[in-house]
Amino acid sequence: MSLVVKRENLDHQGHEGTRRIRQVEDFSSVVQLESFVVSIQFQIEATSGPGRVSTLITPHGKIETPVFMPVGTLASVKGVPQDVLEELGVQILLGNTYHLYLRPGVETVRQMGGLHGFMSWERSILTDSGGFQVFSLNDLRKVSEEGVTFRSHRDGSSHFFSPESAMAAQIGLGADIIMAFDECTEFPADRERVRTSMELTLRWAARSKKYFEEHKGEVPWSSRPPSAVSRQEKQVLRSSTPASKSGLLGTPVAQDDNSVKSDATQSLFGIVQGGMDREFRRESALKTVEIGFAGYAIGGLSVGEPRELTREIVESTLEHLPQDKPRYLMGVGTPEEIALYARMGVDMMDCVLPTRAARHGLLFTSEGRISIKQARYAQDGGPLDPACGCRVCRRYSRAYLRHLYAANELLAQVLNTVHNLSFYLDTMRAVRHSILLGDRAHFLSEPSRRIP
Ligand SMILES: [Zn+2]
Repeated sequence: MSLVVKRENLDHQGHEGTRRIRQVEDFSSVVQLESFVVSIQFQIEATSGPGRVSTLITPHGKIETPVFMPVGTLASVKGVPQDVLEELGVQILLGNTYHLYLRPGVETVRQMGGLHGFMSWERSILTDSGGFQVFSLNDLRKVSEEGVTFRSHRDGSSHFFSPESAMAAQIGLGADIIMAFDECTEFPADRERVRTSMELTLRWAARSKKYFEEHKGEVPWSSRPPSAVSRQEKQVLRSSTPASKSGLLGTPVAQDDNSVKSDATQSLFGIVQGGMDREFRRESALKTVEIGFAGYAIGGLSVGEPRELTREIVESTLEHLPQDKPRYLMGVGTPEEIALYARMGVDMMDCVLPTRAARHGLLFTSEGRISIKQARYAQDGGPLDPACGCRVCRRYSRAYLRHLYAANELLAQVLNTVHNLSFYLDTMRAVRHSILLGDRAHFLSEPSRRIP
């Protein structure tokens, strides 16, 4: 097993307290100010081939990667209370800036201490920039150099997102990791369109970083150590209410306190675009890295292209991303795909599939996919997935889950979602375990090493 131990202070690259002013090629009007503060740490614990197991530490706790991040679009993972997410071992979840901007509005969330305070979630949060959501509005948007004018999918009202306003919204929401504003290129698109779009995203990335560097002290929790006071308050609450110790009453259960301390703030990730063109992906990756971010995302995939092409583009883009920073593949995929991408060296992934499929009665199990609505489960007394240890599989039968779904009971959505999330999280645990075993597993399986 090749064991690699690195500790990178992502925001200042090991020169704490020194301010470096850097001109970025092609973006000479943008002055880059390196941060003083360590806001996330990324430590590679073990590698196996291109895959790696790492520890990512944010101001709100420790994340073991490769990690799957459940999607909590409107500050809620639909149907699942926060204490159940904690029980499942969710270490980071994702919020959608576009939706939260429309309701309840950034100012409301900011006044409640940001998303952590608002939704009572003390662990890490990532928000997207709104770029992809606006992209999916199709006819309701108009893109210019300055930004995107779009109409709300809810009431048709007109709004405008620029790199600066998308950063301001994400700073107000206060997630630990926020994303540069990008344009997601549609598929298919001709070569010139892909180039123009990729270059626009690079200019927006530089503007996103500039705004972030100038305003990151405005995060709702930056004036005091993250959750330090609230943790003490909640500790008192926990010790005075024994039943709440396991989270049964819905009170927060703090994670191991591995948080980055003191005046740490948010971290900004850049997004690589470039459509399905390897050369544009390379150029986008190199120039995004040149601008300099705490981590890098691969965006613009799972937009209708064949799965094999997604894999090829991911693989070729990863080659151009720094080894020592987290890599986030946005918006993929099935359990098989997230396991594959994790082994290819992706550290973070998100997807609505497990939660959305669950609400439609589609369940992922160790024996394959199950459509729980099918009549054949009507009298099936077995667990949903015999190999799953989640609270749903431990307690309920397929027959009961099928009945809940057929009767349109709300509990069906809750239980189905809990299981699917558990399956995704277990899939990532298995990948991490396999990478940690790495060459040792291979060594033990060699014929000459076997006991006769
Ligand atoms: Zn289960």
